[in-house]
Amino acid sequence: MRLLLVEDELVAARLLAKGLRDHAYAVDVAADGASALVAAGINDYDVIVLDLGLPDVDGLEVCRSLREQGVHVPVLMLTARDAVQMRIAGLDSGADDYLTKPFDLDELLARLRALLRRGARALVPERLTVGPLVLDTRAQTASCGDVRLPLTTREYAFLEFLARHAGEVVGRSAIAEHVWDDSYDPLSNVIDVYVQRLRRKLALGGAEALIKTRRGAGYVLSEAD
Ligand code: CA
Repeated sequence: MRLLLVEDELVAARLLAKGLRDHAYAVDVAADGASALVAAGINDYDVIVLDLGLPDVDGLEVCRSLREQGVHVPVLMLTARDAVQMRIAGLDSGADDYLTKPFDLDELLARLRALLRRGARALVPERLTVGPLVLDTRAQTASCGDVRLPLTTREYAFLEFLARHAGEVVGRSAIAEHVWDDSYDPLSNVIDVYVQRLRRKLALGGAEALIKTRRGAGYVLSEAD
């Protein structure tokens, strides 16, 4: 899941980005409204966490501009003020939810899950099943029958992305965009390396054949041949 974090306080941003990455989000950080709008114009984010107080334009303005640009990705606004007026303004500007600082990482994660579950895109149901493979998107675990697959955070994120698009050919650029952040190097073979690792781990549950290669097109997670 690719997430844009818009937060100007560097230490807070770094901590939050780390917490989110530990929970399988690919995180880009923007430190002001202008770079947030540029990043959102380039990348296809799954969700945006937007601080209200920014050094240039405030979060309300950023949110309004996003919606005017036709960017309909879910936005969770962070506000230091728990004023009713502020929350109303945030929701009116096009935000989908808000959270008052200081907040617990667990609450942020729960709200992100809720945002990603609802709405037109319904990105993350709680359970994803493909043949013998079952993903629990809350616990971020994958198992085949009784076998829990020992996945790293990034491996889980990759497998979840494939599972959300089960039966569809998923191209390398879509994988890079939603599973990796800005640090992804398009010239590297990191996606192939991860596919090999995932197949080895799926093999522990007898399910290595679930990931199929479509030469020149990408990968498909599917039970069918
Ligand atoms: Ca701020």
